[in-house]
Amino acid sequence: MSVLDTFNLSGKVAVVTGGNSGIGKAIAVGLAQVGAAVAVAARDEERNEQTVKELRGLGVDAIAVRTDVTSRSELTSMRDQVTSQLGPIDVLVNNAGIGIHSDALALSDEDWDRVMATNLDAVWKASQIVGEQMVSRGQGSIINIGSISGFIVNRPQWHAPYAIAKAGVHHLTKSLAAEWATKNVRVNAIAPGYVKTGIADIDLPEYRHYWVDEVPMQRYAAPEEIAPTAVYLASSASSFMTGTVLLIDGGYTLW
Ligand code: NDP
Repeated sequence: MSVLDTFNLSGKVAVVTGGNSGIGKAIAVGLAQVGAAVAVAARDEERNEQTVKELRGLGVDAIAVRTDVTSRSELTSMRDQVTSQLGPIDVLVNNAGIGIHSDALALSDEDWDRVMATNLDAVWKASQIVGEQMVSRGQGSIINIGSISGFIVNRPQWHAPYAIAKAGVHHLTKSLAAEWATKNVRVNAIAPGYVKTGIADIDLPEYRHYWVDEVPMQRYAAPEEIAPTAVYLASSASSFMTGTVLLIDGGYTLW
């Protein structure tokens, strides 16, 4: 098999949570470009359908499954729908996430719970629900979208629960990777730096100094710069890699 062939995902089935926007959409397109059938699992049905249309245009099977990742029953039903319509799941990308900026002293319990439910608990639930199927089949790759925020404290905005959730995602990645290593289920994470999407107010002048000028590469990323790494982690190109958190941050965490 040639090196390029190891990236091929023809015949594989992938789920991307939050696959209708930003980084998730770019990953869904990337997985489709290397031949995977893709299910988009997010809440906004219009954006889900639009994405599915674009994925089908790439010549692969694609479906939308309206899913709120904070709900265990919706995640279970998503797994079952994908399995019956596309086949058992080979690749799970836990990408859905929300951002929130708030000083610690002003943060409500509701906002803390909302961020944890979406950015950490949902990664756990989806991994458990889809991981059960992967472990019983003896194959699978789970890719969690963490963040530089799981390694460092961002400036100038404060967002303790976001950062704590992402640090939790990184360690959840390692914990499940260790537990499922002998089951041939690999679990890895990507920790992006600043990427231009709906979640990051990247163009606001008050953030420019911290989010662009302080990045060694002096810019932010496009979502399409994160997708190839997800394809790598999804495919047999990374067959001996598990429990890794790959930083893609233009060098931000070097300083
Ligand atoms: P976007 O806002 O563009 O995308 C977020 C996605 O998450 C949307 O598709 C949204 O779909 C989905 N989502 C949010 N809540 C839920 C929910 N309860 N159930 C299902 N889907 C949900 O942001 P990004 O692309 O930037 O974010 C993607 C991931 O990348 C997040 O985990 C984020 O933390 C991470 N990240 C982003 C960085 C950046 O600079 N942009 C840097 C580092 C990490 P819908 O609303 O339709 O449900």
